[in-house]
Amino acid sequence: MADTARTATNTLEPYFMPFTMNRQFKSAPRIVISAKDMHYTTDDGRKLLDGSAGMWCVNAGHGREKIIKAIQAQAAQMDYAPAFQCGHPGAFELSARLSAMLPGDLDYIFFGNSGSDAVDTALKIALAYHRQNGEATRTRMVGRERAYHGVGFGGTAVGGISNNRKQFGNLIAGVDHLPHTFNLSEMAFSKGQPKWGAHLADELERIVALHDPSTIAAVIVEPVAGSTGVLVPPEGYLQRLRAICDKHRLLLVADEVITGFGRVGDAFASEHFGIQPDMITIAKGLTNAAVPMSAVAVSKNIYETLMAGPAGVELFHGYTYSGHPLACAAGLATLEVYAEEGLFDRAKSMAPTFEAALHGLRGLPNVIDIRNVGLMGAVEFAARRGAPGARGFDIYLKCFETGLIIRQIGDAIAMSPPLIISEAQIGEMIDILDGAIRAAN
Ligand code: PLP
Repeated sequence: MADTARTATNTLEPYFMPFTMNRQFKSAPRIVISAKDMHYTTDDGRKLLDGSAGMWCVNAGHGREKIIKAIQAQAAQMDYAPAFQCGHPGAFELSARLSAMLPGDLDYIFFGNSGSDAVDTALKIALAYHRQNGEATRTRMVGRERAYHGVGFGGTAVGGISNNRKQFGNLIAGVDHLPHTFNLSEMAFSKGQPKWGAHLADELERIVALHDPSTIAAVIVEPVAGSTGVLVPPEGYLQRLRAICDKHRLLLVADEVITGFGRVGDAFASEHFGIQPDMITIAKGLTNAAVPMSAVAVSKNIYETLMAGPAGVELFHGYTYSGHPLACAAGLATLEVYAEEGLFDRAKSMAPTFEAALHGLRGLPNVIDIRNVGLMGAVEFAARRGAPGARGFDIYLKCFETGLIIRQIGDAIAMSPPLIISEAQIGEMIDILDGAIRAAN
């Protein structure tokens, strides 16, 4: 089985892999061929514990019967329905379910296919909203350093990762950035929210003063920055951002593509941290990643403002696959699994075990920081002299060889296991990581 399943190296070349060192990968491929619950199986028959829920997305674990059956049944009944000027029951049902779950009056759901398009959709809705309100000069977007908002032109522009930006010219014009909230000397080895750093939100006042509020449409932040290494918001920081947005009538978009659906121990991080955004972007855990899908949840005020526009199409935006029937079926089944198994509460109750285990790595060679919230956490290592990222990559590879998949982020690794993880599996994950850290000296 192992030999026949192994992917022939001569078939690897044509696939131009995303965010991957293609040349390195194709010289030493890492290929998984099946997945069930907490594990992947590689093409040479090894089981790998999934320490990252795929890519922060398989929150209910892999191969869930209920989700598979729902997708199969929907594919057999109706594979596709036109998304514009036509509807199908699943899209309305899923919108109603999400609207009931989302905090406050984020009651209106616009579907897309990826986190990236959800972000671009939210930015476009912000522009359309202000224009409809008679404030068409509000076009500027404010993002944050070390933010990841996907790879569309809008998301890349408001994002704050120089590697993701430098190849692509000017992106969209009129964007400014808040400083990121990470400061090793002030917050190393924080458990949960760091105490230091709420004042960094006040930088928004400086940006507003520089550009004038009449030019700013929206501020977008990840409640917890995931892809740049689990940067947990300082206590009070998000509240201050919300207050400054209110003062200047800027829309606040919470990008919850990673933090939605139980990752931090509540349905959404906005709820967990006690803020009410004007829009929330979601994807990943929405369908347990079984079918690509994303959404923007929009406040009643924004929706009603757009509905008060001229007769006709209220928003000239949408995708062929917005509200795809298979994705809606997967989404509805996923939400049922979350509810039936109480997985958000489970994440909350496992979080202290996860925190204690992760912080148990403190003191190992080169570990300079550990941070966590809910069931997401990161360990950061000192970079090797002249070789940034090399130690992180070695640790990632060693974990892969010894039975664990995690995410590498430069000289840090991130963990975000499926919410079904057991205490024993948390222990196993940390043991494997411990061995990999020691081996990467
Ligand atoms: N926004 C956030 C916060 C993300 O973490 C991601 C992906 O990790 C995205 C947007 C982009 O999502 P996608 O890769 O589905 O386009």
